[in-house]
Amino acid sequence: MTLIAIGCQSTPKTTFSTDRPSLHSVATGHFVINSDVRLDQDNVLVKELEELHDQVYDTLQLPEQRDPVHVYLFSDEASYRFYMHTTWKDLPPRRAYFVGTARELAVYSFISPQVKEDLRHEFTHGLLHATLQSVPLWLDEGLAEYFEVDASTPGAAHASHLRELRMAESEKWNPNLYRLEMLTDFRDLTTRDYAESWAWVHFMLNDSDESAKVLLDYLTVLRSTKTPKRLMPVLEAAVPSYFNGMQTHVLKMQPGHPIVGTAVLTGGED
Ligand SMILES: [Zn+2]
Repeated sequence: MTLIAIGCQSTPKTTFSTDRPSLHSVATGHFVINSDVRLDQDNVLVKELEELHDQVYDTLQLPEQRDPVHVYLFSDEASYRFYMHTTWKDLPPRRAYFVGTARELAVYSFISPQVKEDLRHEFTHGLLHATLQSVPLWLDEGLAEYFEVDASTPGAAHASHLRELRMAESEKWNPNLYRLEMLTDFRDLTTRDYAESWAWVHFMLNDSDESAKVLLDYLTVLRSTKTPKRLMPVLEAAVPSYFNGMQTHVLKMQPGHPIVGTAVLTGGED
């Protein structure tokens, strides 16, 4: 994979520093990647995030991005973990983070075999927070999971979430958007909650024009309010069969293949 070339261009020292990567930066109109390893403008990661930006804004019909997203890309895992642990002691260890503050929208991660997927996920959070006034937790994660899947297949099924939901179903589990909408701390989210959030987003964007409109209208509301109402009553009113519809939608999905839905917004289908 081309990514290995990034790590091989030089061999930066593991610094165990409380400083963020700053030796090199590459900027586009939408983000700045700060790294200790040089990345050129035509680097695969730069292209990937630019494409993702367009994909997110087209699919979700978002207005202009307010602020750039700052990506801090560490050259190795140990330096990343040292920095994150010393800077945000309360955060559980994860491979990547989006941290939005009043000062800056920042993404942190390190070069690894999963860096593309990790950056796609966190950068999606960054774009949403760079554009909307508020993003409910379940939707934030559902959209980040939706767009972390390979850019070349928009709306492709998220293989591990699909497995999780199939297992859930065999355990007689039921989706529960009401419960998801009550969650406000990401540390409370289980693997199944991530999978379910992804599934609701996937269902709404791809099942029908009506379901897509519910989500897109909700995103329009989120542009201008910090205290949004819940989405479920709106979905229930517009798509009365939403509960069975979501379960059927998941059942129809095949790993790695887009679902061909009636919604024109995404060109068919994590
Ligand atoms: Zn996330």
